[in-house]
Amino acid sequence: MRKTLLQKVWENHAVRTLPTGQTQLFIGLHLIHEVTSPQAFDMLRMRGSTVAFPNRTFATVDHIVPTLNQSRPFLDVLAEEMMSSLEKNCREFGIPLYDITNANQGIVHVIGPELGLTQPGMTIACGDSHTSTHGAFGAIAFGIGTSQVRDVLASQCLAIEPLKVRRITVNGSMRGGVYAKDIILDIIRRLGVKGGTGYAYEYGGEAFDGMSMEERMTVCNMSIEGAARVGYVNPDETTFEYMKGRPFVPQGAAFDKARAWWESLASDPDANYDDEMEIDAATIEPTVTWGINPGQSIGISERIPSPSSVPAEERASVAEALEFMSFRGGTPIMGTKIDVAFIGSCTNGRISDLREAARLVKGQHVAKHVQALVVPGSQSVRRLAEQEGLDKIFTEAGFEWRGAGCSMCLAMNPDQLQGRQICASASNRNFKGRQGSPTGRTLLMSPAMVAAAAVAGEVVDTRRLVRTEEVHA
Ligand code: SF4
Repeated sequence: MRKTLLQKVWENHAVRTLPTGQTQLFIGLHLIHEVTSPQAFDMLRMRGSTVAFPNRTFATVDHIVPTLNQSRPFLDVLAEEMMSSLEKNCREFGIPLYDITNANQGIVHVIGPELGLTQPGMTIACGDSHTSTHGAFGAIAFGIGTSQVRDVLASQCLAIEPLKVRRITVNGSMRGGVYAKDIILDIIRRLGVKGGTGYAYEYGGEAFDGMSMEERMTVCNMSIEGAARVGYVNPDETTFEYMKGRPFVPQGAAFDKARAWWESLASDPDANYDDEMEIDAATIEPTVTWGINPGQSIGISERIPSPSSVPAEERASVAEALEFMSFRGGTPIMGTKIDVAFIGSCTNGRISDLREAARLVKGQHVAKHVQALVVPGSQSVRRLAEQEGLDKIFTEAGFEWRGAGCSMCLAMNPDQLQGRQICASASNRNFKGRQGSPTGRTLLMSPAMVAAAAVAGEVVDTRRLVRTEEVHA
């Protein structure tokens, strides 16, 4: 058969080929939130349409949710309006909503997997770029715009161009202190922020075989930052173990049946790929962005590039990034003073991220000049962390312990950078203005590196804070 998972899932969900050459693809799961859905529902009403499959549609609130004072009405009038609209729309169209009073509320890409809504072989759509996260389960998951949210609400289908598949194999073992975040930052750096255009990224190899589901989610989450439309990992034993017992996952005999089906969807060993690349995990070190897109990153021991050190076609963007960041080419990223440290987001706001950061900061203290935030990705993550005493470790170390939400990833809520502040951030985008201040500066890195930077008050190599044998392997 020689098919990739993408081909198999695509064929299973293709309704027809449209005259444009696009595929009309049936969407198995539609996840919605308060920011990109209000206009979509308005358009639906204007057309006199209804929601085709409310039982395949689930809503949560995350982007605008304050992480400190969550009492209603929110102080931000626009945020309150968005929240009220989502509540009204979900009531009217019979869509389940995980609002802030619900114990399962959280960032859309955190709660989907937690609840078992995300399953292998599914097609998934959501009005947020980082929907690629769900590909960690062997799902094909698309971030979509508001008009596409409308289309999926009305028809449960998406018109989408067929994709090529690039197999990215990472073999060898990750060095101590290197995490899934470093792997994906390195991949984006190698392939470029436009390198994935027209592609799905299939991730595999020894490094991925050894990763937890949460680590795989971190990698798939940032596929979109390399312009890949989707990213996925073939489902395996790790996937099935993670899924067992979750609320929306079939149980007992039905699970065994589903599992056999999910296994059959993995790419065939001799599948044909449109492109392949291989990376040796041992060549990757803790990685930090220095510029204004996630491809502008370097290993912690490297120096920031200068326009003269890069190919001609990259010179303008390097010069622009250096100017915005007030960095000089040829200087190390290590030692860059930070003002804010943010651990959270759908990339790195899960329990394993918090456990690792807590382990590193235990008994230490955040530098005096740094504001440090830990924002769990969901209420479930927050509860679990509190049961394990992680909140105490963080607060004793001088971190602020917040309620679940997107927080400073996108800053559509009160958590925002001020002025020219520099933030060591476990999130996924370092675009100009991304964290709330038009002139604010973002350095993307793993949560462990953020934890280390918070304590040191500057960018440091997380491996220097702990004995090598204690570092995550
Ligand atoms: S954490 Fe950031 S990327 Fe993820 S859903 Fe929220 S705003 Fe989007």
